[in-house]
Amino acid sequence: STQIKLRHCAKTFADGTRALAPFDLTIEGGETIVLLGPSGCGKTTILRMIAGLEFPDAGGMITFDGDDVTRQSIEKRRVGMVFQSYALFPNMTVAENVAYGLKVNGVSAAERQTRVAAMLEMMHIDMLADRRIDQLSGGQRQRVALARAIAVQPRVLLLDEPLTALDAKLRVRLRTEINALLRKLGITAVYVTHDQEEALALGDRIVVMQKGEIAQIGTPREIYRSPKNPFVADFVGAANRLAGDMRDGRLHIGSQVFEAVDGWNQYNDMIDKTGPVELFFRADGLSVCEREDAHFTGRIEAVAYLGDKQRLTVSGIGPQAMMIDTHADDLTAVGSDVHCRFNIERLAIFPAH
Ligand code: ADP
Ligand code: MG
Repeated sequence: STQIKLRHCAKTFADGTRALAPFDLTIEGGETIVLLGPSGCGKTTILRMIAGLEFPDAGGMITFDGDDVTRQSIEKRRVGMVFQSYALFPNMTVAENVAYGLKVNGVSAAERQTRVAAMLEMMHIDMLADRRIDQLSGGQRQRVALARAIAVQPRVLLLDEPLTALDAKLRVRLRTEINALLRKLGITAVYVTHDQEEALALGDRIVVMQKGEIAQIGTPREIYRSPKNPFVADFVGAANRLAGDMRDGRLHIGSQVFEAVDGWNQYNDMIDKTGPVELFFRADGLSVCEREDAHFTGRIEAVAYLGDKQRLTVSGIGPQAMMIDTHADDLTAVGSDVHCRFNIERLAIFPAH
């Protein structure tokens, strides 16, 4: 499968909007890359550049398996695309929609029939072959869009928020199916989403983007556990924040002092620093404990029962309320004190500015 390289690619639109600062990205053959970031950060522009629907500014270069495709049109690049809105032909049947690209490519009628049948079966929509698109649910339409995109055996599959319009349960189900499909086909894929859970579930690697720049590239585990900067930490859900100070290789938070620990490997460069730091962590960064073991004591402001656990909103530890998870059976009452310990290996730590 096809390796894609973007070298020194940037994009400023005709109206002067600078959508992308110059960046480099290599997507290995067969790899699923997820572009993750808030709306307007440039995800779709990268996808359209790979497709040949936009061209990078002068100086940028895009190669497929080493071949320069920078100025090649979409027809020449053999890409498959799936969007949030289905872009299917509403008056045609499912089978006709999936056959369309094959027909354009000059595939014979007999061969078309075989390939369409195989695609519909792969997407579990063979029983819908003769239905019209406007008679299908949203999830069924996205299955047709996927079948149509892969029917032409593209070199790369480009998916732009394909599940965003679907309800939560269906989103998770289709996400699992897309994951299995991408592994089975071994196709190079670029998947755009603003949903961190989707990104973690689907990506071999994730590219986190912020305002037209790449904030971090890494495996889901690296992005989740070792965010490289406050933007990534915040965007992938490390919502709790505290301020501290690094001094003499130790972390000071208020009157508490913490030794640097092994789990800090990825932030080793922080240990020798002196000065104020910002700490980011998730709801598992603090654990509820007995008073004598506590690093901090706060006050329970709210309790959300989540079935397998409870999520507490706790004030009085830092300037902002914190989320802390506790066992589903623990006694928790709004207004009461709660003692907790810091799980210092769960921290992301950055210089404060
Ligand atoms: P995302 O997909 O991450 O939401 P986009 O790639 O669509 O972001 O857009 C990135 C930036 O470029 C945004 O500021 C957007 O308004 C701008 N943009 C996108 N397309 C055009 C265009 N054709 N002309 C001018 N600005 C555009
Ligand atoms: Mg977009």
